[in-house]
Amino acid sequence: MMNDCPTIPWLHERLAAAYGPQTAWWPAESPFEVCVGAILVQHTTWQQVARAIANLKAAGALDPTAAFALSAETMENLVRPSGTFRQKARRLAGFCRQIMTRWDGDLAAMLGQDGVMLRAELLGIWGIGEETADAILLFAAHQPAFIVDTYTARIVRRLGCVADDNTRHAVRSLFTDALPHDAAIMREMHALLVTHAKAHCRATPLCSGCPLTDRCAYWKEHAA
Ligand code: SF4
Repeated sequence: MMNDCPTIPWLHERLAAAYGPQTAWWPAESPFEVCVGAILVQHTTWQQVARAIANLKAAGALDPTAAFALSAETMENLVRPSGTFRQKARRLAGFCRQIMTRWDGDLAAMLGQDGVMLRAELLGIWGIGEETADAILLFAAHQPAFIVDTYTARIVRRLGCVADDNTRHAVRSLFTDALPHDAAIMREMHALLVTHAKAHCRATPLCSGCPLTDRCAYWKEHAA
């Protein structure tokens, strides 16, 4: 941790005081839909993902057995609205193959295993990276996991907690070392960071009125 970095409990408290209780919501009707959304949302908007999920739903393919039975071409056409559709169709097919071959189609059994084992299994599936694996752990399996997304990395870099070239692993450790091993708290922290990144700490930051200015390295360097 760098010298000026506020503690994670301070950050949590300050954001919670500014933005209030977070519902930490993931828009899905089933754990499989959460997983599909987590796989499709990389490098695209949620609106595009919602269109792809609506296609899968209309095709009756929003469960592992039905999705696994689709041809590669059909899967590509259904997920096309989410962008880079060939890659995403392949990732989704690989995820379904894992559920069908290792867990006999029982997603609940897969998600119910020990969190460390589940994370390792997910990361072993072609195209599933850490952000996707942690989103599945936290929102589909309801297990403690901290999601390092672009928003979170940007905020802690600007606060002075990690160097510009620091890895996602360092950002993840910063939070997982400080937060209780509790899924509800990790969901709330994630939601607060997303809210803050949208309200103030945007790509071009809106520092005026930001609740973190007194501890922010970027603010200290750039404030008049
Ligand atoms: S002061 Fe500016 S750069 Fe720092 S956290 Fe707030 S919005 Fe982001």
